[in-house]
Amino acid sequence: MIVRMSPLNDANMIHRSIGGGGVYQHSLTTLSVFWPEVEHGKLIARWPHLAVDVGATWDGHRRQIERHCALVEQLGHKVKQTAGDVDGLEIFLKDNGVKRPSVRDLQGYPDLRTQPVMVNWPPARTASCWCGSGRKYKQCCRPHSLGTIDGTID
Ligand SMILES: [Zn+2]
Repeated sequence: MIVRMSPLNDANMIHRSIGGGGVYQHSLTTLSVFWPEVEHGKLIARWPHLAVDVGATWDGHRRQIERHCALVEQLGHKVKQTAGDVDGLEIFLKDNGVKRPSVRDLQGYPDLRTQPVMVNWPPARTASCWCGSGRKYKQCCRPHSLGTIDGTID
């Protein structure tokens, strides 16, 4: 079973988004949708109000994603990632009759029946970072999740 990660940025919302009040469930996989730099820029340009949910800057966005992945993994979930793209989101919104996407629409995207490409998080420390920067994971986004586990989010 795959559940979706909330794009909202606090741990309580993550607990809620995975259901069961954070109950440890071995079988769950949480899907985290991240927006590559170009797509994040397009997303915010098109729907500025979504900046509150996905991060106003790409750095903020990937930092948020990395922390969420670490928190959800700590709850015993497997974490998979998929990249969002604005064209795909537009089709999704049209299919669902949505004109102005809300955070709930973002949580519903992508439609899992379309079999989006998912990759396991985290990458190996020396592998390319999941965010697409081209840097090694340990030198890119990984430092943002270190310290998350002991509750020091910021
Ligand atoms: Zn990165």
